[in-house]
Amino acid sequence: MGKVLVIGAGGVSTVAVKKMAMNADVFTDIMIATRTKSKAEQIAADIKNMKVHTSQVNADNVDELVTLFNAYQPDLVVNLALPYQDLSIMDACLAYGVSYLDTANYEPIDEAKYEYSWQWAYKDRFEKAGLTAILGCGFDPGVTSVFTAHAAKHHFDEIQYLDIVDCNGGDHHKAFATNFNPEINIREITQRGKYYEEGQWIETDPLSVHKTLNYPNIGSRESYLMYHEELESLVKNFPTIKRARFWMTFGQEYLTHLRVMQNIGMTSIKPVLYNGVEIVPIQFLKAVLPDPGELGENYTGETSIGCRIQGMKDGKALTYYIYNNASHQVAYKETGAQAVSYTTGVPAMIGAKLFLKGIWKKPGVWNVEEFNPDPFMVELNEQGLPWHEQFNVDLEV
Ligand code: NDP
Repeated sequence: MGKVLVIGAGGVSTVAVKKMAMNADVFTDIMIATRTKSKAEQIAADIKNMKVHTSQVNADNVDELVTLFNAYQPDLVVNLALPYQDLSIMDACLAYGVSYLDTANYEPIDEAKYEYSWQWAYKDRFEKAGLTAILGCGFDPGVTSVFTAHAAKHHFDEIQYLDIVDCNGGDHHKAFATNFNPEINIREITQRGKYYEEGQWIETDPLSVHKTLNYPNIGSRESYLMYHEELESLVKNFPTIKRARFWMTFGQEYLTHLRVMQNIGMTSIKPVLYNGVEIVPIQFLKAVLPDPGELGENYTGETSIGCRIQGMKDGKALTYYIYNNASHQVAYKETGAQAVSYTTGVPAMIGAKLFLKGIWKKPGVWNVEEFNPDPFMVELNEQGLPWHEQFNVDLEV
């Protein structure tokens, strides 16, 4: 049915490509193109039911990408490289004429700044070219955005308060490791916090606001208010929202390591001279930290991510909680990757599948909550990320 080109060969790509191969009736031809070709070859070698093609590409270089697109002629490009490459890949998609999907919004490499403005600026060009760009199709953003759209469509007349809660209740048995690309992850966590209230964005010191929340099948965990990119599109697309916040759990051990690394300058994105060579401390740190893709084997426990929503239905106040729990061990047994890569790679595959089937296809640049949530919700249950709903419960937020 469709030819897909996946860019990047990290943890998320490993899961997405393996799940695409499990949906081979839709993904009839797959290529992985990335900076280090051996990593793509490693993923391809694990897939036995079809031949997955591989290629080397520098996704910062638009010309190289266009040459690759001309040679492979994909129906969809799935960007699972880093947020730094979003714009060059979108430029190449426009130059060649192919649709686009990603899981994280563009970030300039020299500034940890999260906003959709750069990618939303492509809307007219994608629309005129008749091409679709699907933004933020991982778990958060991604599934949390679709959960919100599902709640708005089926359960509420008006969503007023949205709290996205992200708990990793797992244990990888390492002193310190991040669950996805360490550079991207640490840049995000060390940012100032930010949430939306009554039309304003309110800033907080990094990880300074926290409370204990209870997560199904995991228990109570300290949860920290952070800025997360889906807040920006959700308050725009659901204008009845009065307050939107994002919470993530961290253990004390993790926070202590992070504080020490920050204090000694290891998380800095400003280049320093070392033995006459310019290096960026956080990039060096990434090189010495455990590879998130290798954490799966000894990872135990579960993730639990969802949306806690308050609003109005038929003139009455309603509270609603929708969530998914994913087991690190189950994810590892199925795909060789831990649950954080799994919960991102599976939705990326689902978004790509809905595009190729013509269900999530409309010219322009869209965040996932702007598509019909129903077919995505059905796929989540079928592809390994079942969801659960609770009504009129104490949301604790
Ligand atoms: P990894 O670091 O494991 O993988 C990134 C891959 O991209 C690597 O294979 C890397 O190549 C490749 N790459 C990097 N730069 C280039 C380049 N210039 N040209 C070609 N390839 C390049 O990251 P993850 O798999 O953990 O994450 C992938 C994406 O998913 C990230 O954008 C991340 O932000 C996003 N994400 C989204 C989540 C969500 O829920 N929405 C959650 C988690 C992650 P090499 O192997 O040579 O380094």
